[in-house]
Amino acid sequence: MGAFGYMGKILYVDLHSGELAIEELDPKDAYSSLGGMGVNTKLMEKNYAPGTEPLSPENPVIIGSGPFVGTGVQGASKTVATTRFPLNGTISESVGSMRFATTMKGAGFDHIVITGRSKKPVVLALENESAHLIDAGDLWGLDTIETTDQLKAKYGGKAGVIAIGPAGENNIPFALALMDKASTLGRGGLGAVLGSKKMKAIAAVGNRRPKIHSPDEHKRLVSTMRERLKRFKEHKRILELGFMEGWDTLVRKLSFCNNFSQVFPFDKANDLYGLDVYKSFKANRFGCPSCVTPDKESLEIVDGPFKGFKTTTTSYINSYLFGQLFDLNKPDDITASVRFLDQLDRMGVDMFTFGHMLDFLITEHETGNLDSTRFRIPLVKSFEALSEWLNAIVYRKQSAEMFLSGWKSLLDYVGNQCSLHAPLIKNCEVLYDPRLTGMGTMEFEQIVSPKGPRSNAGGSPTFIIGLTEENLPIFSRHLDRMGASEAGIRRVMDSPLGLNIGRMTRYSEDWYTILNSMGICNRHFNNRFYSLDLCCKLFNAITGFEVDMNHFRNAASEIWTRIRILNQNEGFAHSDDRPPDIWFSPMLDARGNPYVMTDYFGKEELTRDDISNWVKDYYDERGWPDGLAIMPEES
Ligand code: SF4
Repeated sequence: MGAFGYMGKILYVDLHSGELAIEELDPKDAYSSLGGMGVNTKLMEKNYAPGTEPLSPENPVIIGSGPFVGTGVQGASKTVATTRFPLNGTISESVGSMRFATTMKGAGFDHIVITGRSKKPVVLALENESAHLIDAGDLWGLDTIETTDQLKAKYGGKAGVIAIGPAGENNIPFALALMDKASTLGRGGLGAVLGSKKMKAIAAVGNRRPKIHSPDEHKRLVSTMRERLKRFKEHKRILELGFMEGWDTLVRKLSFCNNFSQVFPFDKANDLYGLDVYKSFKANRFGCPSCVTPDKESLEIVDGPFKGFKTTTTSYINSYLFGQLFDLNKPDDITASVRFLDQLDRMGVDMFTFGHMLDFLITEHETGNLDSTRFRIPLVKSFEALSEWLNAIVYRKQSAEMFLSGWKSLLDYVGNQCSLHAPLIKNCEVLYDPRLTGMGTMEFEQIVSPKGPRSNAGGSPTFIIGLTEENLPIFSRHLDRMGASEAGIRRVMDSPLGLNIGRMTRYSEDWYTILNSMGICNRHFNNRFYSLDLCCKLFNAITGFEVDMNHFRNAASEIWTRIRILNQNEGFAHSDDRPPDIWFSPMLDARGNPYVMTDYFGKEELTRDDISNWVKDYYDERGWPDGLAIMPEES
């Protein structure tokens, strides 16, 4: 493998035999699939047999990082994990940040392919170009933070660690892994897949860095970008507030409770979770190794009965996203939500799936659709009841049996009448609701995403609220920055509603694919400084490949097609690309005002036909007749 950008090595781990093997990364794969998410997808194709069950030993877990990681490029820190996920049986990737990707390359590896099942718990340790499986009997049963602390004590504070908690060990299908105590990895159940393999953690340490083909050009590009970023007018605010710098936007986009039927009141959100509440914690900011806008935080409660409680989190905003569902924070306790999130992270549980499943159940009970006497744990919104549910689920107690196969078992348990209200696409709960701020690409992408709803594959300027059609040139420029072709931009803009969101989503997904294949963070205050042109220049300077923007466009499109085909082979089809029924009923605010689903600019209420037409446009933009993805002959 070429000596630049990549470490040139793939580690194969067979947990059944305990054998480890190292193979060269094929330069052709690096060239055509770029790295990170792209090469992961190709490795999944090679190592996955159709029909493999997510928790069977044969289901591979592929961990990878991109060619920008370890080169000092701003925000190049991403670890990508690809597998078949147990929550809904889809095959896709999950992405996280912090140090692990840099340390994996530091230890000499671009990708790891893990198959089989160990007889006893193990940790995979990567150290300076070698790898070992070590006994993890003493770690099994510990939470994610305790596990990480022990491994950092053994391998040093600079080690990167991916760890699962008791939820993963017990194969809960919405178990996550935690990376370096501050970044989640594996929405959809990566933690359960690792747990089923008896893999407690992966620790990586090493000082190697990829060689850079054209160091002067690389240095010029990196320092120009950093200077631009530091001059950004919001830079100081980001350093001060982290992800909370976007609170005013986030609270308007993400305030929904009672199973997405009501808007959580904005004034109450401000009082119980807003900036003043956030500032009442002692926050220490930290971030990924290459980042000048670190936004992770450790929080300490400085007053009251929980004084001295400390936690680390990817963002304080999560405490609002979770807390609003259960009205957790109260005027006399504004710390409840942060404290509960700490429990979820320690157990290794996805806060969204856990939260929305319980919110769904409690709402069905409160609206009289569900007989709560069938449940042995109270269906009430309280810290204590939630803790009881969490404990019962994580340790697979009979009282929580209806949760043990995720939404599937829960819907079987509650029956058809309640199932109509489930906030699901492809058996995974939605994260963004177009009734609040209109149908942008993040909202729409949840419908067509191979994985079902995920964090931000559809990121675009539609994330911003309050833009009007007068701002259309912003969208055009953004599409250009993401690398959409001129003809593609024309098709997106050629819409009576100002934007054709179906067509635009294809370009947001392709941009997400490129960022994740390079290893670049997709946070809006990072990704806004990148363009396809810059990615191309950096890629050429780092790897020595000489590619143009068309090469990137074709690679991104091909990677997405590969993922779609992997899922088609498991029976997923265009009939799965449908919005949840609840989106077609109004969401109400505290005064009873209805919020209905409209286009992004709020011009028209959207019907099922409108959504279907955008789904068809999305397929058309991808070149998938009737949603059927086909690999071009020459690929
Ligand atoms: S913005 Fe946050 S997630 Fe992104 S690279 Fe910086 S610290 Fe990491």
